[in-house]
Amino acid sequence: MTTSNSNRPTAAQSCHSMDPDLLASCVHCGFCLEVCPTYKLTGDENNSPRGRLRLWREEADGRIPQDPWTDHYTSECVGCLACESACPANVPYGQIFEQVKHQHVAQKRSRPPISLRFAAGLARHQSLFNLAMLPARLLRKAGILPHRFLFKGEPAAFQSTQAYVSHLMQVHRPTGPRVALLTGCLMESLFREINFATVRVLIENNIQVIVPPDQGCCGAFQEHTGMDGVDQLQEQNRIAFGKLDVDAIVSNSSGCGLALGKTMKGAVPVRDVLGYLGEQKLVTRTRMDQAARVYVDLPCHLVHGQKAAGIPANVLDATGYQWELAPQARDCCGSGGVYNIQKPENAQQILARKSAFLNEAVGTPVILATSNHVCMMQWNSARSTGLVKRPYEVRHVIQLLDPLGS
Ligand code: SF4
Ligand code: SF4
Repeated sequence: MTTSNSNRPTAAQSCHSMDPDLLASCVHCGFCLEVCPTYKLTGDENNSPRGRLRLWREEADGRIPQDPWTDHYTSECVGCLACESACPANVPYGQIFEQVKHQHVAQKRSRPPISLRFAAGLARHQSLFNLAMLPARLLRKAGILPHRFLFKGEPAAFQSTQAYVSHLMQVHRPTGPRVALLTGCLMESLFREINFATVRVLIENNIQVIVPPDQGCCGAFQEHTGMDGVDQLQEQNRIAFGKLDVDAIVSNSSGCGLALGKTMKGAVPVRDVLGYLGEQKLVTRTRMDQAARVYVDLPCHLVHGQKAAGIPANVLDATGYQWELAPQARDCCGSGGVYNIQKPENAQQILARKSAFLNEAVGTPVILATSNHVCMMQWNSARSTGLVKRPYEVRHVIQLLDPLGS
C-alpha cells in the first residue's frame, strides 16, 4: 500500500475526484471475500472488499447518490488489508480506503468520536500526550488496569526512552550497526516499557541506538480515522529522520512502521525491529521453565501492510520458549487501529472467533505474543471481557528477548 500526499484529497474534493483507474482495477474475482473479517462475520457482499469497491465506484461514476448505506459499509471495514494480500489484480485497497475515509470525514458523512478527535489532537504534541497519559502510566505501574485494553506492564513514569537510550549507550557502548528508533506516540506515552525492552535487546546485540528528539506521531492515528493532519506529521518525521546516518529506522509497532515507511518513501529504510533482529546474530535466552508455551499472532499491518513473511523463526527461537503460530495467525484480531473503539461489537465478534483456542491452549503459563501494541490491547480485552476464561499473558515478542524480562 502506498499513499502520497498528492493522493490525499483535500476537504474541498469529493468522491468524484478519486482516480477512476484505482476503482476500476478490481476485476470482481471474489478471491478477497473469504479473507475479509466483516464478510465472514455477516455474509453480506456489501461488507466485503469487492462490495465496498463497487459501492465507491458506483458513487464516483454518478450511478448512485451519496447514500447512508455506503457510509455504513465503509465504516464497517477494519482496514486489516487482508484483501490486498489475497488480490490477484493488486488492487491498492488500502490506498483507496484511506482516500474514501478522508473524503467521508471531510464531507461530514462520518465523524470520529470526540475521544478520538481529542487523542489525535494530543498525538500531534508528544510532550502533551506524555503528560496526559501520566495517570494511566502510574496506574499500570501500580498494577491497576481500569480499562479492558490495558495490559500488565511497568512503564517508567517519568524517564523517557530517549533518556534511557542515552544512559544505556554510555554504559554499554555497542559498536555494531546503528539504528534510529521510532518511539511512537501511544507506545511512548502509555506502553514505554516495550520501548525500553526494545532498546535493551538492540544494545545487548551490539546495535547502536539513537532516538531522534524531534520525531512525532507516525500519522497512523489520523489515517485510521480519516482526520486531517497527516501531512504535517509526515513532514515533521521526514525532517527528524531524513538526514540521519543510520542503517535503518526500526519500529516495534507494525502499524507505526507501515505509516513511517510510507512517509520516508525509501529515503531511509524503515524496518520492523523483529525483522531487523532476524538478520543479526542474536543472543539466545535460556528458559528453565519448559512448561510455558508461546502462541504467536501476526499483526495485519506486518503481514498485509508491510508484506513481511512473518516474525523470523530465529528471533522466536532466541526467546528460548517453545512457540508455535496461533491458529489463524494471519487473520485480523479486530483491533484495526481504532476499529475496536469505533466498532466495538464487531471487533469483539472477530476476536471471539480468533481467541477461542486460548481456552484450550496447552502450557503454563500460556503467552500470547505479537508485535503491535494495539493488537496487544485487543488481545487483552479477550481476557478482561471474559471471552477467554483461562489465564494467559499478553506480551510483545521483543519482551520475550529482553535480558531483564522474565
Ligand atoms: S481491509 Fe480487511 S475488513 Fe476491509 S475490506 Fe479488506 S479484508 Fe475486509
Ligand atoms: S480479489 Fe481483488 S480483483 Fe478480486 S474482487 Fe477482490 S479486490 Fe477485486
